[in-house]
Amino acid sequence: MIAILGDDVISVVADIERKKNITKAELQYLLEGNEGELLGQRAAAVRQEIYGQAVFIRGLIEFTNYCKNNCYYCGIRRGNKLAERYRLTEEEILACCQEGYRLGFRTFVLQGGEDEYFTDARMCHIIRSIKEQYPDCAITLSIGEKSAESYQQYFQAGADRYLLRHETANEAHYSQLHPAEMSLQHRKKCLYTLRDIGYQVGAGFMVGSPGQTVDTLYEDLQFLRELKPHMVGIGPFIPQHATPFGQKPGGTVERTVTLLSIIRLLLPHVLLPATTALGTIDPVGREKGLRAGANVVMPNLSPKSVRKKYALYDAKICTGEEAAECINCLKNRVESIGYTVVCDRGDYRP
Ligand code: SF4
Repeated sequence: MIAILGDDVISVVADIERKKNITKAELQYLLEGNEGELLGQRAAAVRQEIYGQAVFIRGLIEFTNYCKNNCYYCGIRRGNKLAERYRLTEEEILACCQEGYRLGFRTFVLQGGEDEYFTDARMCHIIRSIKEQYPDCAITLSIGEKSAESYQQYFQAGADRYLLRHETANEAHYSQLHPAEMSLQHRKKCLYTLRDIGYQVGAGFMVGSPGQTVDTLYEDLQFLRELKPHMVGIGPFIPQHATPFGQKPGGTVERTVTLLSIIRLLLPHVLLPATTALGTIDPVGREKGLRAGANVVMPNLSPKSVRKKYALYDAKICTGEEAAECINCLKNRVESIGYTVVCDRGDYRP
């Protein structure tokens, strides 16, 4: 690793902002905690220029925790026999949307494992039903790797956005996190297909996942620059006890917040959530994320009865509250640091 000589944080941050790129040495320098508060302040200023004080809300509906995959880090992986499985019916999903709409949500995120029960026909039916009842709302899907034909069908049915974290842009690291039947090449192909179809696309990764290094993070950032996603979801890795990574150390708030700021400087227009995982490892983690350049929060609209079962990781927050309590709590948190929750679709601003 090349040392940064004679440089200070002001020139490093200015250099990243100007080039919209980062060197490996600059990344290492910032990840070592040299950024002080300046990096976060610059990232917040960049976000302010494009999105003002607005914080967009997305209503998260975790509609199935069945998954055919076996990612080593994930609490709802196929091999976790302890997971209590559930699926919401279309009626239950629509009831979540009804309550969400009443509370001011104009984006619904349908998130689930790769569950073959939800065929393309079922998914398209659900998407159409939501769009018929709430034509002014955006629908985001987060249901994993599918064929180009499936992605096309969901898009034609009315889906607007798609979240698919790439998890790592390094082949060797990808195979440390996933079983052999999954490949980085396929994951990337899905992301490019989604973008070509016309979705607003979200990529992202866990911070502090086992095997992650400055080198792999550097590759992640370069991949994001190449893909140019509309959204980037990053949150700390948090171990789930019943997975192969149950005893691994988790990611840190500091590193996650630093990376949020770097991503804001590299992709100034990006929609950047302050994630629930960040709020799980620090009671004011989401506030720290917003102050460092994030501009989205995703309160949970799933029925209270199933929330604890969507346990991707341990100790997840917001599993005991009703949707209305969640949104009120988040509004207060957002306002306490001088930002405003905005009740519109919150689309990407090019
Ligand atoms: S991370 Fe996604 S694809 Fe992997 S096991 Fe969990 S839900 Fe399934």
